[in-house]
Amino acid sequence: MEMIKNFIGGELVEPVSGEYLDNYSPMTGAVYSKVPNSGKEDIDKAALAAKKAFPIWSKMSPKERADRLFHLADLIEENADRLAKAESIDQGKPLWLAKSVDIPRGSQNLRYFAHAIQNQKSVSFTDIDGILQYINRIPIGPSALISPWNLPLYLITWKIAPCLAAGNTAICKPSELTPMTAFLLSELATQVDFPPGTLNIIHGLGQTTGEALITHPDVPVISFTGGTKTGAHISETVGPMFKKMSLELGGKNPNIIFDDCDFEKAIGGSIRASFLNQGEICLCGSRMFVQKGIFDKFVSRFVEETEKLQVGDPFDESSFIGALVSKDHLDKVLGYVELAKEEGGKVLTSREVRGLKPEHQKGYFMRPTVITGLAPNCRVQQEEIFGPVVVITPFETEEEVLSMANGVDYGLSASLWTQDISKAHRVARNIQSGTVWINSWMYRDLRVPLGGMKSSGIGREGGDYSLNFFTETQNVCVQF
Ligand code: NAD
Repeated sequence: MEMIKNFIGGELVEPVSGEYLDNYSPMTGAVYSKVPNSGKEDIDKAALAAKKAFPIWSKMSPKERADRLFHLADLIEENADRLAKAESIDQGKPLWLAKSVDIPRGSQNLRYFAHAIQNQKSVSFTDIDGILQYINRIPIGPSALISPWNLPLYLITWKIAPCLAAGNTAICKPSELTPMTAFLLSELATQVDFPPGTLNIIHGLGQTTGEALITHPDVPVISFTGGTKTGAHISETVGPMFKKMSLELGGKNPNIIFDDCDFEKAIGGSIRASFLNQGEICLCGSRMFVQKGIFDKFVSRFVEETEKLQVGDPFDESSFIGALVSKDHLDKVLGYVELAKEEGGKVLTSREVRGLKPEHQKGYFMRPTVITGLAPNCRVQQEEIFGPVVVITPFETEEEVLSMANGVDYGLSASLWTQDISKAHRVARNIQSGTVWINSWMYRDLRVPLGGMKSSGIGREGGDYSLNFFTETQNVCVQF
């Protein structure tokens, strides 16, 4: 059984208490590794290490910091197969997806910000009467980087890269449900010439380890990605401490299909938007709105395509859907399917997962599920489910679909499918969400801001938005 360790001050160490949590593989439902159940003492040690490293790391030149991030990216690439397999076993996602998206993105995140910090421009203003003003961007200090379970390596490196590039030190708290690739990353980081304490990775539960981290007095920055409820708790708890905070939270994203769409493209894009990564992507389009002229034809074809999706062995290249992350999560998602029936919905897809291998019989698998007939304001249409469940609702007019699309607390992302360019831009402008894809889904450029409106969060991550977040600005005014 693999014993995961914390990474503190450049060393892999056991938790102070010696306590561990069980780590289950969603594929088999069996415990396959142990995760440190870290406490306040571990966070104190990590915060001290990060505090000591900060003056050394922050005074290194951008090139020196970038070289170390490039080295870590090289190591991820050299170990890509091992990392992808670990991500698949730990999270349940298909191996092909981990290989083609999660792991390559991990190294790209590091490379992107290693380049960006070396090309960062500073702004200055000069005046004819002898005034020069310029703006310094100053790293802030030890930063708490807290990530969820759905894209473990992708999202943690998305935070580590700009945080370290900008000159801060980091204390990461990966999800207790998917700690393995963060642990492997810490093993790789021991080979990089980071000043000890520059990067720390502490494992444990949100309510204890996470809570000790966000409230630590020596940690002035919190970059959090996770659920809206947790985000609200963090905001309420640390608000009076005036920490710099970025909260990337949940979504209930609309996917709007107009009569005049490219039908085949809209079907293929909507299948991916609904079910990729078992529907466990914050950007998944879990609410589909289809215009009345093509509603019946679209729904029947969409159900047909959904039924073709193979669910099962994440190591099998032909599996589109692997296992959901945990037993609790599977029960929650299946609970929403039952609730949909109580709320008057009609389930159009089959329920039984067939053909599982014997070793996967206790894994957390479910079939992708399509539901119609639900009112826009019922719970299933309002609450984030975060699984392979999509609800399809008909609409007639732009006005009507905008009111339904915007009629939730969330505002993370949206997709729309139409051939009418004016309508596409007009509708996009009126959707309350941080990202809108037109005739596409989840095109994620590292340079553009990602983040939510309304209850989907505060803050933006990506390119300069991340580098700005991880720095304080200071105006200097000189008279000469
Ligand atoms: P979660 O909020 O339960 O946990 C996220 C992380 O926060 C975990 O590491 C957890 O241990 C930690 N945590 C929990 N309580 C804490 C506390 N009191 N103090 C500090 N840390 C604490 O979310 P999850 O279930 O892991 O992830 C799923 C959610 O993440 C979904 O809502 C999804 O939409 C969202 N998400 C959002 C984005 C985005 O970019 N907006 C990306 C991915 C996932």
